[in-house]
Amino acid sequence: MWTWILSPSAEVRSGAKRPRMSAKRASSKTQTDKAVPLAQIRTLGDPVLRQQTKPVTAFDARLKKLAQVMMEVMVRDEGVGLAANQIGVVSRVMVWRNPDADEERYAWVNPVIVEESEARCTEIEGCLSVPGAAMEVARAEEVVVECQDLSGEPLRVRLVGLPARIAQHEIDHLEGRLILDRASPEERRRVMKELREQALAVET
Ligand SMILES: [Zn+2]
Repeated sequence: MWTWILSPSAEVRSGAKRPRMSAKRASSKTQTDKAVPLAQIRTLGDPVLRQQTKPVTAFDARLKKLAQVMMEVMVRDEGVGLAANQIGVVSRVMVWRNPDADEERYAWVNPVIVEESEARCTEIEGCLSVPGAAMEVARAEEVVVECQDLSGEPLRVRLVGLPARIAQHEIDHLEGRLILDRASPEERRRVMKELREQALAVET
């Protein structure tokens, strides 16, 4: 077991708006789609996003391959994190990258939040599985996550600021929760209305 601390940037401390969880641009997607032809992001309405993922027990080549594909999809679609059920795999695996630390990347297996601060902060979040939506979500400012690496080695990690937010967002996915469930009722109504209007615009 070991611990490291990721400090929030000055921007996070001052409460400034941070980049969204996703900043997808259509142009970049087509260029690199060939790298991961089968891994399409599942979106709102797909039941797999509502499934509780299963704990991983085999730390084998398949797990490493899954993590590799997830990393590629995360980078391809310009997310900062991705949960396995977002590509249709019901395993408790998440990947993320840390914009506050030179984009360092992590693959975490069986992550669980074991401690969270009472201090909360509200930021704008987006989600690759809810394309086109951005909403205010309140989350704990600091969390402690216990998980395993791809070899099964246990890790205990304290996260602050944006990394803490990313971990909470992805662990929510692994438990079948979406940002819509975390937003206030008013935010949820506003976003659902926007999404309906987008859908209508596509149909017409
Ligand atoms: Zn998401």
